[in-house]
Amino acid sequence: MDNPIPPLTKKLDGKIAIITGGASGIGEATSRLFAQHGAKVVIADIQEEKGRSVAESIGSNHCIFIKCDVTDEQQIQSLVQSTVEIHGRVDIMFSNAGIASTNDHEQDILGFNLDALDNLFAINVRGSVACVKHAAKAMVEGGVKGKIICTGSVTATMGVTKQIDYAMSKHAILGLVKSASKGLGKYGIRVNCVSPAAVATPLLEKSMKMSVEEIEKLFDSFNCLKTGAAIKASNVADAVLFLASDDSLFVTGHNLVVDGGFHPPA
Ligand code: NAD
Repeated sequence: MDNPIPPLTKKLDGKIAIITGGASGIGEATSRLFAQHGAKVVIADIQEEKGRSVAESIGSNHCIFIKCDVTDEQQIQSLVQSTVEIHGRVDIMFSNAGIASTNDHEQDILGFNLDALDNLFAINVRGSVACVKHAAKAMVEGGVKGKIICTGSVTATMGVTKQIDYAMSKHAILGLVKSASKGLGKYGIRVNCVSPAAVATPLLEKSMKMSVEEIEKLFDSFNCLKTGAAIKASNVADAVLFLASDDSLFVTGHNLVVDGGFHPPA
């Protein structure tokens, strides 16, 4: 495991965390950070080879891979059950698996393809609802005051001219998080959202057909905050760690935006 953290500063020591979409990008960075902070991580993803290799590189004592397609509720139920069988409980669910709008359609309003919307919603929305539902059930049944975090986006609170289905799906994530936080508060379960601006992950490289350098240069120009570096997956992982740890003890139903003051041209 890279960069071991001294025992007293580990924020998730002994916690059991499921991370969907953990094979790549933001999910991978969060899996690595959670493991460094003492969590036992279960990476759940459709990319089997990549997921296994990330889990192996973190170390089998700290991370395992379970193949799971989040569009299938049965697979999510079984992912949660297997985690409870292996580790005894679920403390943290990071529902993060997601896709961008398909390259075949711009998804502007006049050319909107509804089949593409169905496919995207099956992953980004339906998948997240099932993750929140089954993780919450396991937490309630196990008497665990758990933490659930979903990945939204800066597009969760803004209108867009293209990729409308993606923005709609992320608006739905905010509705899910705010509503679930209301219903689960009485069990001591916190539900929050992390909303990144553009991060040069494989999702964005594929969707924009641009290199990491080109994406970072473009989106850095939209940020008010100038640090000399673009937003990285690890910056988003830091925010997820905050929401998953006791550092955010009274934070629930919140949308934590990680966007460097994102201010795109109209
Ligand atoms: P990524 O492509 O690097 O990672 C997404 C992961 O989700 C992949 O490993 C993929 O295999 C997995 N996945 C896709 N469909 C799945 C399914 N049906 N079942 C299980 N796993 C599945 O992309 P990323 O940028 O790290 O995206 C992670 C999340 O962050 C997504 O929800 C995305 O919408 C959101 N997000 C990304 C950005 C960005 O700029 N990269 C900005 C805002 C929000």
